[in-house]
Amino acid sequence: MKITIVASGSGGNATLFSSRGTRVLVDAGVGPRVLEQCLSAAGAGGPLGWAPDAIVITHAHADHVGVAAKYNKKHKIPIYASEATARAAELGDPERVRSFSPREPFAIGALTISPRPLPHDAAQVALVVDDGARRAALVTDLGEVPPGLLEHVAGCDVLLLESNYDADMLEAGPYPQHLKRRIRSARGHLSNAQACALLAALPGGTHTVALMHLSEVNNRPDLALDAARDALLGKRARLLAAPPRGPLVLD
Ligand SMILES: [Zn+2]
Ligand SMILES: [Zn+2]
Repeated sequence: MKITIVASGSGGNATLFSSRGTRVLVDAGVGPRVLEQCLSAAGAGGPLGWAPDAIVITHAHADHVGVAAKYNKKHKIPIYASEATARAAELGDPERVRSFSPREPFAIGALTISPRPLPHDAAQVALVVDDGARRAALVTDLGEVPPGLLEHVAGCDVLLLESNYDADMLEAGPYPQHLKRRIRSARGHLSNAQACALLAALPGGTHTVALMHLSEVNNRPDLALDAARDALLGKRARLLAAPPRGPLVLD
């Protein structure tokens, strides 16, 4: 399975999972032109062109829904979303919207996708993407690690995990108090320390960890990476931080 992180952060999110002729874009936070440029820069466009077979939207926030409706209407690409997200977001022509239950696995071509609800201020899901040989987990936009999440992602070859903010930088930073409270809350975002607690508890088997959705105001890649490196000590996993704009390719 090839994973191309196209964008990650509050400016927009999009990650392409490709395996055996199936290409699924998770979140539509960039438009078709940026996606095409990014995939060709990553060498991930190829003979299939830039268009994914389907788009899966994790939740109804603008940095994730992005231009899903445009992909649907103009490019006729089916959009998958949980029932709650499909109700809350404008996803385009309902004929091409496929809703899934947030705890039931579903298949798109060669990929099986297993969702799991996450605590956030919109109905949100973690996704495990499985091509039969490899599994990758995408876990962002959560205020805390809920019971059962560790088991859901355990043994994944690749873990894409939110490490949104450094608690001291958020506290001292320019955001208004209500926004700081929202980010820190159990339905906000995951801090570097919270991400590290999950990484420290992760059983073996994960060979790559990418830190996702880093705040450009309340975090720095070196801080997030230093903390995560300590948490992964002795686990021999490759560690990267996803930039706001990719491509970052993980094979
Ligand atoms: Zn987000
Ligand atoms: Zn969100």
